[in-house]
Amino acid sequence: MEIGLFGGSFNPIHNGHIDMARRVKEQFGLSRVLFMVAKDPPHKELLGNVPAEARLRMAEAALCGEEGLFASGMELERPGKSYTVDTVRALLAKIPDAKISLIVGEDMLQNLPSWREVEALLGLVRVIAVSRPGVAGTLAEAAGTLRARYGARVEFAEFSGLDVSSTMVRAHVEQAVPIEGLVPLAVERMIYENAFYQAETVARLQEKLRASLNKKRYEHSVGTMRCAIALAARWNGNAAEARLAGLLHDCAKLPAERLLALAAQYGLAMDEFEREVPGLLHDRLGALVARDEYGVREEAVLDAIRSHQLCRAHMTKLDKIIYLADKIEPTRDYPGVDMLRALAEEDLDRAVLACMDSVHAHLVQEGKRIKPEGEAARAAFREELAERDRQNA
Ligand code: ATP
Repeated sequence: MEIGLFGGSFNPIHNGHIDMARRVKEQFGLSRVLFMVAKDPPHKELLGNVPAEARLRMAEAALCGEEGLFASGMELERPGKSYTVDTVRALLAKIPDAKISLIVGEDMLQNLPSWREVEALLGLVRVIAVSRPGVAGTLAEAAGTLRARYGARVEFAEFSGLDVSSTMVRAHVEQAVPIEGLVPLAVERMIYENAFYQAETVARLQEKLRASLNKKRYEHSVGTMRCAIALAARWNGNAAEARLAGLLHDCAKLPAERLLALAAQYGLAMDEFEREVPGLLHDRLGALVARDEYGVREEAVLDAIRSHQLCRAHMTKLDKIIYLADKIEPTRDYPGVDMLRALAEEDLDRAVLACMDSVHAHLVQEGKRIKPEGEAARAAFREELAERDRQNA
């Protein structure tokens, strides 16, 4: 059995890893590739504080449904540093007739001479090396050294790796840059929901929010944050504010009694409609809770939270992003949502108006009363858009 052994910290696993494993498997006719998640990699500092078990879970989620690609936690069970030579010996003890190919990227090939018991290791495996963008064409030289010094069997993949790294993914998350397309969707979701690699200030708010909302509402909030980050990137908005407002927009989505108690505490004037449907208070109260309990100081963020339900006249770009992200984030599933998602990529304003219309139609269909402020904001926005069209005509 030809087994590809692909070791790494997978911190996190990304599409560059998966693409290269698929293609190496195909080119070299391997029966399977094992993604060996390192518990404590000897050659790398583990940045981001994400435990090995979580890196393994992300790899498992990423490879679910990938034919012949598997995540392995073998190294997690051994104490101490994760040395590849020990892993290869353990694999051969389990499957004595296995032929093992060690899959490495260009940067790792350069490092191989410093690996523990390198000569013994290279006697046990063939090495398959993949060139990597950003690592300057050192493949042939590194392979020459290994062949001359250790009689290593080194072969090259016919393709080059994608321009993705775990470092890039971690930096994107921290800086509120989207990671869509860099990692599988399931991994993206795990990263955001667990605040892996997240900026520390945001991660702290996220923990607090998780403790105060139910699971579904928390997942919706994180989905809104993800979507707001993507919309900010698409429409040149303020990504850090979009992240914060997206995360906290529903921080006061609490049971009716608690909303009424909070409203009383703040001395918030309520109309008869809000007294009847206290859920409607969650936008105004949300801005106050975000300010007082989550320490948000940015007025633009508080305004976006305050207007995310009923909108307002002269909405800012951030208001629009949060309103829309709330309705089309990835956990939302209702007829027409994919059309709204596509429109959000093409025209932010039209998508906002289409969303307002779709919410209105839904309320009518459900026989619900409609708050006049929302209707006024919808009419004003329709007029703003018509004016824009007239000017562009
Ligand atoms: P980091 O950015 O944290 O250094 P990484 O993206 O290099 O991480 P690792 O888990 O350390 O990911 O890498 C595991 C193996 O995959 C290494 O052999 C590495 O060279 C290889 N590798 C990772 N990304 C690519 C890529 N885009 N192309 C080719 N090889 C890659």
